[in-house]
Amino acid sequence: MSGRIVVLTEDIANKIAAGEVVERPASIVKELVENSIDAGATDVRVELEKGGCASIAITDNGSGIEYEDVALVFERHATSKIHHFEDIYRVASFGFRGEAMPSIASVARVEMLTRRPEDLAGTRVVVEGGAIKEILPAGCSAGTQIKVTKIFENVPARRKFLKTEPTEQGLCLDAITRLALAHPEIRFNVFANGREILAAPQALDISARIAMVMGSDFSGHCLAVNGEQQNVKLFGFISRPEFTRSNSRNIFLFVNRRYVRDNNVSHAVLSAYRQIIEARRYPAAVLFLDLPGDDVDVNVHPAKMEVRFKDSRSIHDLVSRTIARSLAADNTPKDGFVYRLSPREKMPAPDFFRPRPSFLADNAGKYSRQNMQQAISADLLLRSGSEQPPITGGNYAKKEPINFTGFRYLGQFANTFLIFAGREGFILIDQHAAHERIVFEKLKKSSGEGIVSQPLLLPEVVSLSPGQIFLFSGYIDFLQDVGLQIEIFGRDAIVVKALPAILPQISSREIIADIAEQLVDQNSKPDLQERKEKILAALACRAAIKANSALSEEEVAALCRDLETAPFNATCPHGRPVIVNFSLGEIERMFKRK
Ligand code: ADP
Ligand code: MG
Repeated sequence: MSGRIVVLTEDIANKIAAGEVVERPASIVKELVENSIDAGATDVRVELEKGGCASIAITDNGSGIEYEDVALVFERHATSKIHHFEDIYRVASFGFRGEAMPSIASVARVEMLTRRPEDLAGTRVVVEGGAIKEILPAGCSAGTQIKVTKIFENVPARRKFLKTEPTEQGLCLDAITRLALAHPEIRFNVFANGREILAAPQALDISARIAMVMGSDFSGHCLAVNGEQQNVKLFGFISRPEFTRSNSRNIFLFVNRRYVRDNNVSHAVLSAYRQIIEARRYPAAVLFLDLPGDDVDVNVHPAKMEVRFKDSRSIHDLVSRTIARSLAADNTPKDGFVYRLSPREKMPAPDFFRPRPSFLADNAGKYSRQNMQQAISADLLLRSGSEQPPITGGNYAKKEPINFTGFRYLGQFANTFLIFAGREGFILIDQHAAHERIVFEKLKKSSGEGIVSQPLLLPEVVSLSPGQIFLFSGYIDFLQDVGLQIEIFGRDAIVVKALPAILPQISSREIIADIAEQLVDQNSKPDLQERKEKILAALACRAAIKANSALSEEEVAALCRDLETAPFNATCPHGRPVIVNFSLGEIERMFKRK
């Protein structure tokens, strides 16, 4: 490498800046739609081809740009939005760096038609590889139309990093969804390969827009939140405790109407739910924080998804207190559910207490009550084989298969752990993890042969976001193989027609939501088998006996039987331990007997 210092050419500098601003089609969509919003548009139309990888077209009815300014749009740091440094702390608009348009034009071909409503003629400009190829007066409707093609053609490295078209399309749609949530006054229509995938007409207020964008499932299970502290206002909607998701992706935060990610605020949301939803489940929330521009720095991240609050502790406080208050106010019996906020009592959904009919039915033949008494005494629980397996020291069992020979069932602890004593120590089994492994192996074994499905008496319609629907469309056959029959129903719903016969008791709505989240998480992974296993694990998790359910001895015996014959039975499909050993030696040491 030569040590000479050179000033980068404008083209290279733009490409470097583009790397920060324009990572993938979704970033282009985000920048262009933000510009339309900044231009005062009330109608924004987005057309994507091949997930936004082939072309992105945006049409708005905003202010347009006058002929003299059009060339400037493509110059770095050309912006109509700030004139003094201090302005960046006050801008209410999205843009102000004047970086997006030149960055996009340096990695793609941009064709723009624009006209101010007050002008007679508009302008057509074509920019390619950062250079203006053509700029001429042209007739066009008021507002701005931009078409971006040849995306990343001159940056093969970036093109290689793009994911599959469905994933890229999903990310584009996510970007639009966030903007649509914060701007109910703007109409959005999104088309993918000519088909409309999102239609959000102008809404009167944010709650109406949320219902349109988040789906009726969320809007049917949400609570309004409203709080204020000094000059910070918080408002929005949060999910009731019965509506949970398997990750925190459904927590949307907007600061001064700008979507941001903020761990501090997410933490505050989760802390308000900690005592009332199961571990490892997450709420959904759409929250808006409005505060004076001087109290928040939006200029910390090039893609502006992060902000820095002047006083993040008081924000945390406001969010967690407001949400906790709203949940507590809703803490009244509903449909037989009682949500308690006292820290010791977790919310027990009624079916946590009932034995799972699927589980019993599965084993009914084998384990009738009399048979069970015999089975319990004759075999499982009193099996005192001489070949008792050695108990491994330490807390986690080694990943040896579990075998109950020589162990006696002592009972259930915390309605979650099963205790067995043997001659050399005792073991705890996590009933949920154990059953999850059993169901998962059953599903896996039969998925090749096609799992028998059981039609639902009434097919159930489950609402999803348009992006999730798109992901589902690639898995219809696989889901059919595991006994889950679904059909796509319009832009934002799926009809569940049949469930796997071995898991007839699961709720279609919950399982579809779980699978949707797996698909979003897994879509970037190239290994199809791995993705399918994650779907099976999600099914198994929903179908398995929950923690916090009392089990009869019959159920325990059946569970142990099945567990002994399940492969990889020392861990659940997510890799958590099913069994923990306490050896006699360890216990003796604890009591200082050794
Ligand atoms: P920024 O948004 O940070 O100012 P951009 O590169 O995104 O920078 O845009 C540069 C300028 O181009 C904007 O300041 C605005 O004046 C103009 N512009 C871009 N898109 C539009 C649009 N859809 N309608 C009107 N003006 C636009
Ligand atoms: Mg901009």
